[in-house]
Amino acid sequence: MSAPPESWGRIPRVTQTTRAVTSRFDTLPDQGAPFLAHGLGRSYGDSCLNGQGTLLLTRPLDQWVSLDPASGLLECEAGVSLAEILQRVVSEGWFLPVTPGTKHVTVGGAIANDVHGKNHHVAGTFGAHVLGFELLRSDGSRTWCSRTENARRFRATVGGLGLTGLITRARIQLKNIHNPVIDEEQIRMRNLEDFFRLADESDQSHEYTVAWLDTLATGDRIGTGIFMRGNHAGPDAPAKKAKGPLPVPVPVDAPAFLLNRQSIKLFNTVYAKKVRGEQHRGFTHYEPFFYPLDVLGGWNKLYGKRGFFQHQCVVPREGNGGPIREILEAISRSGESSFLAVLKCFGSAPAEGLMSFPREGVTLALDFPNRGTPTRELMDELDHIVLHNGGALYPAKDARMAPETFRKSFPALDTFQAEIDPAFSSCFYRRVTATP
Ligand SMILES: Cc1cc2nc3c(=O)[nH]c(=O)nc-3n(C[C@H](O)[C@H](O)[C@H](O)COP(=O)(O)OP(=O)(O)OC[C@H]3O[C@@H](n4cnc5c(N)ncnc54)[C@H](O)[C@@H]3O)c2cc1C
Repeated sequence: MSAPPESWGRIPRVTQTTRAVTSRFDTLPDQGAPFLAHGLGRSYGDSCLNGQGTLLLTRPLDQWVSLDPASGLLECEAGVSLAEILQRVVSEGWFLPVTPGTKHVTVGGAIANDVHGKNHHVAGTFGAHVLGFELLRSDGSRTWCSRTENARRFRATVGGLGLTGLITRARIQLKNIHNPVIDEEQIRMRNLEDFFRLADESDQSHEYTVAWLDTLATGDRIGTGIFMRGNHAGPDAPAKKAKGPLPVPVPVDAPAFLLNRQSIKLFNTVYAKKVRGEQHRGFTHYEPFFYPLDVLGGWNKLYGKRGFFQHQCVVPREGNGGPIREILEAISRSGESSFLAVLKCFGSAPAEGLMSFPREGVTLALDFPNRGTPTRELMDELDHIVLHNGGALYPAKDARMAPETFRKSFPALDTFQAEIDPAFSSCFYRRVTATP
């Protein structure tokens, strides 16, 4: 028997009925309990869970409809994963227009969270490259939604957290590349000023930018880390091979003590040594550049049975990162530590969806092993800093934000609510709207 669907952070654990959706699936029978689509469960918290309801498992929606080799226009069903798209299109000179930090995400999931990648400053979100999709509603209607047809529903569904119905297939504009190689640079950062200087400097010259931070750094060293930037390589780049995932995924839950301050310190020291000298430039395959964590299948089990939280916010930039500094100082005071801390400047592209998370500013993603009350108290404090500075939290990464935080993060919530399918809901939505 396969394991019950979970979210990536494995918080909360809920009981839910599942039903596989195929191409032949055409109605959503009223059953007195809400529906929710579930792709590959790569959302960290409860936005992909539906306790006491029915999860519509979308992976069997796996049909490839068409790829125009001249224009890169792709049409496929919503359960196709980004990994499967890459597998088929890279050798034909095409690439995803936007990709998150894992390729194990479905097209439906990428639209419903309007995911962003390292190129937000030049390409916006995934939704910006979606030309249209078919939406199946609980009243049996199937409508094509695009910027010109059913435009209101299009804007509500992009970033709409799966609440407006089931996306069955989508049309996406891919981007042209010469080869699977990335021309990459890694540069040592000493502090937050270095981060903002490098982000500004790379804004025009580099399609992809992101930074890894050492959250254990304190005082003048806050912001210590590695800035990474890259571009798709030109036609003369040397061939590079992907290494592929390690042969064995993490088999069982690791003991809770494995990820502690000391092991994180050790990881940070080793990771920082990745850059020899001040700066390193070279060619690399796109896999390690975009998906370093995909190498180790089931790495979420390293956090043990209690699971882990992600906290991802966006805050206004304010000089050289006032709110980001406040957040990092709060973490440092708390005694908690984050294993993976990722910092990126979002561009100014207007949001594609009513509920899209990305907006102009700086985004910081952190993860924390679940140590119960102290971890939750720290994240409450971080929420306070975010809200106080006019920022927002990312629902795809959340398992605990308060209704007030949600409402303040998404000013278009009332307009969005008018487009929700009455037969759809999620654990996340019920929690952040305080609905039973
Ligand atoms: C290692 C890692 C790195 C990540 N990096 C990033 C990143 O850089 N940027 C970023 O934005 N996100 C990132 N994420 C989050 C991830 O990209 C999103 O949570 C994504 O939505 C997950 O897609 P999924 O197919 O697993 O969907 P699920 O997690 O199963 O579901 C996500 C949402 O999509 C809805 N949904 C799924 N399919 C459909 C459908 N067919 N119709 C309607 N609604 C649907 C669900 O109801 C749910 O609300 C990362 C996650 C991981 C684990």
